[in-house]
Amino acid sequence: MVVVDRDLQANGASIRNFGFITITGQQAGDCWRRARRSRDVWAEVAEAARIPVLQRGLLMIARRSEARVVLEEFLATDMGAECRFVDPSDIETYGTGLRADSFAAALYSPHEIRVESREAIPRLAAYLAERHDVTFLRETVAHSAEPPRLETSRGIVEAEAIVVCPGDDFHTLRADRIAAYGLTRCKIHMMRLAPRRFDERLPVIMSDLGMIRYLGYSELPAARALGRRLESEQRQHIANGVHLIVARSANNSLVVGDSHHYAATPDPFAPTAVDDLILDEYVHVFAGDAPPIVERWTGTYASAKDRLMLVDKPSDALRIVLITSGTGASISFALAEEVVADLFGQPQRFPA
Ligand SMILES: Cc1cc2nc3c(=O)[nH]c(=O)nc-3n(C[C@H](O)[C@H](O)[C@H](O)COP(=O)(O)OP(=O)(O)OC[C@H]3O[C@@H](n4cnc5c(N)ncnc54)[C@H](O)[C@@H]3O)c2cc1C
Repeated sequence: MVVVDRDLQANGASIRNFGFITITGQQAGDCWRRARRSRDVWAEVAEAARIPVLQRGLLMIARRSEARVVLEEFLATDMGAECRFVDPSDIETYGTGLRADSFAAALYSPHEIRVESREAIPRLAAYLAERHDVTFLRETVAHSAEPPRLETSRGIVEAEAIVVCPGDDFHTLRADRIAAYGLTRCKIHMMRLAPRRFDERLPVIMSDLGMIRYLGYSELPAARALGRRLESEQRQHIANGVHLIVARSANNSLVVGDSHHYAATPDPFAPTAVDDLILDEYVHVFAGDAPPIVERWTGTYASAKDRLMLVDKPSDALRIVLITSGTGASISFALAEEVVADLFGQPQRFPA
């Protein structure tokens, strides 16, 4: 197997994300199913490739009574079966340092794992090269994919089958096919907060704003009332697509985000006003001041209004695969299994 990438090392969305393999909150149905399968693959691969799992689980904080109702509704679905309702008085069971007194409730999900993507992805590539004989052609641009020929800036690669995974580049390979999906791109603000004493029992933390973004909650009837309240109290946050995810790194610094701005060509600018909105939500969830920001970055990913992912089949031996939502770390392994099965004789359906 050969992987062709124009960069010297992974530098796109896959190393800029939270490394948060999210299950609870994914859209009911295929996305949630793929996330569960991908989590299992991540767990297996992380052990084999010596990728540390830094956190397990998710604590979804409900700051408002309307958010509490969303969590109650979620817990009544099949997806809530292994999750737990957490009364504010019990939140410290999961770790200290949160403004538990001001919360209406929380939900604990045991499913998630969190890795440090900027370290995990290079380790994964090294593991595939060393243990599974995968060849990585770096600093190599693919110009044309017509199996059995892949034309690259370093010559022709012969291939029985080709899977084009261009991330958010819609124009270099099979632009004709990709254009039909009407895709755009999403720019995200991310930051790292300085290490501080942090209760290492805490899982990844999210809060109310996430319940109107993540389809597993936002498609529940109770999310409408929460949305109305957030529109009146956090209009600017919503206008900038802000919600809160806080993940811990090995040195107790925190990866905190994020925001969502959509454009065909996102600008490269990262106004501090957007980061301030993210930190505003942070200080309503965590006790004390936010630690200083020690690093900022942006990332982009492919986005579609009508689908979370796409698998296009121009011919028997060619597939074009894009995750068109912020779910790639969570669902790609399962989707990859389906694509490979489909290519090699077990036809699949690919609900978006
Ligand atoms: C800031 C941020 C936070 C996120 N948070 C989460 C999260 O918490 N959970 C989650 O599940 N998902 C999250 N995501 C989404 C997830 O990271 C993406 O869905 C996923 O990484 C997409 O992977 P990819 O391989 O398609 O794209 P990328 O990682 O961008 O890789 C695409 C690669 O293709 C190469 N390429 C493209 N065209 C060519 C060509 N013609 N020739 C050679 N090389 C080419 C590029 O150089 C690049 O290396 C987040 C994304 C971002 C940006």
